[in-house]
Amino acid sequence: MSKNPSKRGEATSAVHAGELRQQEANAITTPIYQTSTFWFENSQEVIDYQEGKSNREEYGRYGNPTWRAVERKLSELEGGEESVLFASGMCAATTTFMALLPAGSHLIVTSDCYRRTRQFIDQFLSRMGIEVSVIEPGSTEAFKQAIRPNTEIFFTESPTNPYLRVVDVPAVVEVANESGVTVIIDSTFATPVNHTPLEDGAHLVLHSATKYLSGHNDLLAGTITGNRDQVETVRKALGVLGGIIDSHGAWLLLRGLKTLAIRMQSHNTNGMAVAKYLEDHPKVRQVWYPGLPSHPDHEVAAAQMSGFGGVVTFEIDTDLQGAIRFVDSTRIPYQAPSLGGVESLIELPVTMSFWDYPPEQRKEWGITDSLVRFACGIEHPNDLIADLDQALAMV
Ligand SMILES: *Cc1c(COP(=O)(O)O)cnc(C)c1O
Repeated sequence: MSKNPSKRGEATSAVHAGELRQQEANAITTPIYQTSTFWFENSQEVIDYQEGKSNREEYGRYGNPTWRAVERKLSELEGGEESVLFASGMCAATTTFMALLPAGSHLIVTSDCYRRTRQFIDQFLSRMGIEVSVIEPGSTEAFKQAIRPNTEIFFTESPTNPYLRVVDVPAVVEVANESGVTVIIDSTFATPVNHTPLEDGAHLVLHSATKYLSGHNDLLAGTITGNRDQVETVRKALGVLGGIIDSHGAWLLLRGLKTLAIRMQSHNTNGMAVAKYLEDHPKVRQVWYPGLPSHPDHEVAAAQMSGFGGVVTFEIDTDLQGAIRFVDSTRIPYQAPSLGGVESLIELPVTMSFWDYPPEQRKEWGITDSLVRFACGIEHPNDLIADLDQALAMV
């Protein structure tokens, strides 16, 4: 939720921001610009473009009017100056790190960090001599302690996956600004409807737009939004590294974004209803949902977020076989990785994302055999709860 009273409501921004009122043939919607390149009338036009005197496109790897509409919409929703689109959330993260981390610099990440991001850091950034520190997400003090003279970036999700830890962004930013550290928040689980990290002082906000922003389990995309200088540096790196979204994917994202505000209301309602139901269930050992007072970061979340999203993580009082019986007995959610679409998804992190890790490693990350991640879609909450109820009876 925006803290800026002069901003229009996000439901209005989601529909109208970024769209050109005047389209070819008075169409209401932005067209899919299915073209790889853009022609110039004459050499003077080319020269004017090169000198930054004209605002137009040149070649498909550097931009496309369909993407621009998405970028403008997202900038307004997040309260940032500029945005860039990527082929996936991972591409947004890797391109941003490549663009903003000089060789020999230092990066701080949180322990709940997305697995593939961690892999990129371990396998690729280490080759560039980039040092990494991993800290617990809940502690601003740990962040302060981890800063070195060559620290360039602090990168964290908020909320994190799967424990939905919420980082106190204003507190972290205050510490970071004293040392010139760039704060990048992966806000995939929050969306600009529930939290706008840039308005809390973060420098850049990243999304896997594959999740809530597109919202229909039908495309992959990533985004970065923030201050013009850093976003332009990332945009230039994208032009070289080439991980661009195609115009059809960008158009689907644009379409999905129009309903973001109403979809998030439904995800928030469902997440809270399911979390409360599970917390009272005798076969459920623990529930992690930032909207519940029992969550370790509830106070920070309540101060900083206006809703808590659709993902609920919980541990059942059973073994792996019991957890498998439970998940396999659910009828509404699909058993699949991902989240944020209109269809509910369910997974056991142990079999889905962490199966190929040794048990000791899983234990260190808190991935137990009966841990469940339920990503509520926008179905009716009573139906989701009734389904969970019959499935828990099978444990
Ligand atoms: C899914 C996800 C990613 C990766 O995004 P892709 O679009 O799958 O590449 C990064 N961060 C978070 C928090 C995610 O959920």
